[in-house]
Parts: sequence; C-alpha cells; structure tokens
Amino acid sequence: MNIHEHQAKDILKKFGAPVPNGVPIFSLDEIDEKIKKIKTSKIVLKAQIHAGGRGKAGGVKVVDNIDQLKSEAKNLLGKVLITHQTGPQGREVKRLYIEEASEIHKEFYLSCLVDRASSKIAFISSAEGGMDIEEVANKTPEKIITTRVSLENGLSEKEIKQILEPYNLPENSIQQAEKLIQSIYDALINTDANLIEVNPLVLTKDNSVLCLDAKINFDSNALYRHPDIVALRDLNEEDPAEIEASKHDLAYIKLDGVIGCMVNGAGLAMATMDIIKLYGSEPANFLDVGGGATKEKVSAAFKIILSDKNVKGILINIFGGIMRCDVIAEGVIAAAKETNLSVPLVVRLAGTKFEEGKKILEQSDLKIIPASNLSEAAKKIVEAIK
Ligand code: GDP
Ligand code: MN
Repeated sequence: MNIHEHQAKDILKKFGAPVPNGVPIFSLDEIDEKIKKIKTSKIVLKAQIHAGGRGKAGGVKVVDNIDQLKSEAKNLLGKVLITHQTGPQGREVKRLYIEEASEIHKEFYLSCLVDRASSKIAFISSAEGGMDIEEVANKTPEKIITTRVSLENGLSEKEIKQILEPYNLPENSIQQAEKLIQSIYDALINTDANLIEVNPLVLTKDNSVLCLDAKINFDSNALYRHPDIVALRDLNEEDPAEIEASKHDLAYIKLDGVIGCMVNGAGLAMATMDIIKLYGSEPANFLDVGGGATKEKVSAAFKIILSDKNVKGILINIFGGIMRCDVIAEGVIAAAKETNLSVPLVVRLAGTKFEEGKKILEQSDLKIIPASNLSEAAKKIVEAIK
C-alpha cells in the first residue's frame, strides 16, 4: 500500500526525521486558515498524487507570496497531472500540500528497503539526488552506495557513516544526518514498510539536513497490525478494478494487453501470461482466483476482467486441485449471463471435476471455445481475437 507525501512526512517526523513544516489542503477555501501555520515568506505548493516526477510535470511550485500561492493552487487542484510514473492517462490532483520552502544547497538520494535477496535492510545513498535514480544507476552505478544492515544487530555507527559517505557533508551537519538515518531505519522497521524513499534529501544553505520528499510503501501482509496506516489509504489513487478485486480477496493486477486471464495459482497465471506472449498477443491482467474460490468469487473475477475496456478475449486456464472445475464453470456462466459476454472465450479445464465442468459449459448457451492443453488454449484465443 502507498500513501501520500504529506502522510509519509508525518510518519517520518514521528520517528524523529527532520521534515519541512507543512499542511495539506483539499479545497481552495482552506488556504486562508491553514496558511497561518506557515512561517516562511517563500512557500512550496505540491500536488499530492501517488506518483513521482511531479517536479518535471509542473506539480511542484515555489512561490513568493499568498496571492501567487492561491493562483497556483487554483491551477493545480483538479488538474490531471501526467508524469513519467502516472502513465499517459495521468492522475487527477485532489489534494495539495503547502510547505515552508527550503533554501537548497545540495540534493541527495536516500532510500531504505527490505532486501529479500540478502534478508537484510538495504540503504541506498547517492550524491546524485532529485533526479531519476534509475538513470544514475544505468549511467554511473559507481555513484550509488548500497549498505546492508542485518536485522539482528540493527544499524551500527559504521554503517551510518557508510550510508552518509557519498554526501560529503560539512562537519556541523553530520550529527543531524546520523540521527536522520536512524529515524528512517526505525520508521521502516516499526511500520512494516517495504520501502522508504527520500528523493531529494537536502542540505540547506544553513547546513541543515532535511527530507524534502518522502515516499513510503507498506507490506500489505502486515497492515492488519497497523490500523492507523490503513486509515491513510486513498482509494482515489488506486485502480477501481483492483479495489474491487481486493474486496473479493482476488490477486488481480491490471496490465496493458488485450487478453483477459482467469487462472488459479500464481505460477500458472505467470505461465499463462508467458504463453499468450509466445503466441503473439499480450495479457490484459494477472489474475489468481486462488485455491478454494466460490462460484461468487469466480463470477466477481470474471466481471472484473470484463470491466477492462481493452479486453478483446478471455482465456480461462484452471488446473483443478482444491479448486473444482465445476465451480469455475458455474461462476463463469453466472457472470457471462449478467454481463452479456460479447468477446471470445477459451476455456481449458484440467484436474478435479473437469468432466463435470466441461459438461456444464457445453450445456450452457454460451459460445465457448474449448481447449485441452495450455498451448492450444493460448493459440485459440490469439486467433479468435484477430
Ligand atoms: P517529485 O518530482 O514528484 O519527486 O517531487 P519532489 O518533492 O522531489 O520535488 C521536486 C523538486 O522540487 C525537488 O527536487 C526540488 O528541486 C524542488 N523543491 C521541492 N521543495 C523545494 C523547496 O522547499 N525549495 C526549493 N527551492 N525547491 C524545492
Ligand atoms: Mn522526489
């Protein structure tokens, strides 16, 4: 789960990391009241969307006075912001963050994440901050320092020094920076976050170190022990189909292709997506209906696939183990009737109760193209949508 920058900064602040003072607003008429909390003459206005790259897209404005702030806020609120992370459709800006402006001397990169490969916490630091870290990683990887911290021992002084090394900070900023690194680590561990990214971390002209931007991604599997974090979820920022899927406990991820996939098991879902590509098309989604899905769950999954306007055909690939093929068949028929299915549907059933499942599908008046194995199924659906 992701949260907004202003929420992430609140969390970092709670753990002792220095962040600029600021207030979120949801409408223009809040400005006059909320601006009283801002003590600097220069003010930063930042679009709050769950995507980075706002600076380059006009979503971050530094202004000199309240009049300018108001006119920029009027421009930004309700605007669809397109950044390199939003995709071409962009994201509508529904809230803004008003922040005391900082006088930047240098911008750095800092992130802290769960590194599964080493079973450690990795800090990534670079003097090349503010811009795309991916580009730095591609062109000048030697400018990025990775420091791995073991969970058993926690963060040592030596590791903190290594993390800070690329920044080459002045003597009187070091203590503050060391404390900041510890705060980021504490925040990641105590909130069960997967990632905390501060880009840029800045050194100001008066030698303070500040988190000027903040992104936090939380481990969904641990959210049950953080109701305060769950409360920060902003459904406006999530794909409606994915929200619907999470209500039914379906593992669904929308993709850009044209063939909707309904599969049981994540491995089989990956294999199905691969084979669709092998036969020259692209999957419209990843969808794992799971082990013991009910007819209702299958039906919900089918409707979610069909709600995607790009879907030109559907491939159902079920290997019945705990999942019964007759249950799948009933769910598909129920959903197809409700949605007036108009795209080709290829079904491959194998395993538990597959004969019953096939019979149920044959006896329905749905136009179903049967397939007896995975490659045949993929080939048939790719041909059917041509
Ligand atoms: P992002 O583009 O979505 O990652 O948004 P950021 O929060 O990282 O802001 C983008 C850029 O805006 C930063 O790299 C800074 O150069 C600039 N910026 C943000 N806050 C301030 C500020 O307080 N003062 C000044 N001068 N520039 C700022
Ligand atoms: Mn940033």
